[in-house]
Amino acid sequence: MGSLEELPLRPELRGRTPYGAPQLPAKHRLNTNENPYPLPAELLADLGTALGHAALELNRYPDRDALELRADLAAYLTRTSGASVRPAQVWAANGSNEVLQQILQAFGGAGRTALGFTPSYSMHPIISAGTGTSWVDGHRRADFTIDAVAAAAQVREVRPDVVFVTSPNNPTGTAVELETVCDIYAATDGVVVVDEAYAEFARAGTPSALTLLPGRPRLIVSRTMSKAFGMAGLRLGYLAADEAVVDALQLVRLPYHLSSLTQAAARTALAHTEALLATVDAVKEQRDRIVAALPGLGLTSVASDANFVLFGHFADARAAWQALLDRGVLVRDVGLPGWLRVTAGTAEETTAFLTALAAVVAEHGGRT
Ligand SMILES: *Cc1c(COP(=O)(O)O)cnc(C)c1O
Repeated sequence: MGSLEELPLRPELRGRTPYGAPQLPAKHRLNTNENPYPLPAELLADLGTALGHAALELNRYPDRDALELRADLAAYLTRTSGASVRPAQVWAANGSNEVLQQILQAFGGAGRTALGFTPSYSMHPIISAGTGTSWVDGHRRADFTIDAVAAAAQVREVRPDVVFVTSPNNPTGTAVELETVCDIYAATDGVVVVDEAYAEFARAGTPSALTLLPGRPRLIVSRTMSKAFGMAGLRLGYLAADEAVVDALQLVRLPYHLSSLTQAAARTALAHTEALLATVDAVKEQRDRIVAALPGLGLTSVASDANFVLFGHFADARAAWQALLDRGVLVRDVGLPGWLRVTAGTAEETTAFLTALAAVVAEHGGRT
């Protein structure tokens, strides 16, 4: 095998590492924020039927514009967010990662800049690099919240073409106030992407940026079926924005990017929205249980509106990560000194996590 260094790789990709949540064997895998609950039996039955029907037409290309799926997604957003979203405002792709890539292909690219408030979703800079878009780290306070005044000032100074606001933020769980989104939007001529992958897990009173769409043609809200819907394997992400944004994305999307099987499976899943989202409250309960248990172990956490908790503070987070893994619990070392991230799952998983964590703390001292 040759080496990467010998290949005529684009210079900005040299020395980079690929996205890497370790897919390690562990009894309890609490590191990628998936929903652990099995899909409802009625959905599984309907999926068999729907995919069977779709398979009959696999000799044909799929609906390039995914019109029926986008109508279903628009109806879901309208029903759940208090915003009115039309099908023409919705665009879907293979995971919200592909949606984000298409946004950067259309609005970023060579000579252009994206800015995101780090620590945040590691794929934002990675997709930026992949599309030749320069990346600038935006600032957060020490408690991981975004200072609206400082953020707007930094955006005015950097003049990015694309701004990412992840809310609730990954890996910290921090929700961003809508006023902050408005201030950032007003400070830029670029597009503002609010990545709401975890929106369904938000605590009561944390509104969606979907309500900000009217009158803001450069605002984009991205969502996914990978987290709350429990369908990470489906690969279905989507966005809502002004219709002109959707027109722009049609310029860069590959034709027939969304297979007819994906479209059929996603529509079937959306028909079972209520059953799928029935587990969200149970997951939120476990998240809050983790948060409540941490002080008793001499640990702390960041307020979370997502299905995970950033917890610490460890003298050596890497050692704590390994000690948990040795006890069968895989959490995420997100590279933040002192902190680890755990996905809230079933009650059994939470119990296993808290039990292992108590043992680790007892053994290592663990805290600063
Ligand atoms: C998990 C996650 C996504 C989801 O990506 P998919 O490609 O839809 O699976 C997007 N944004 C953030 C912040 C995430 O954590």
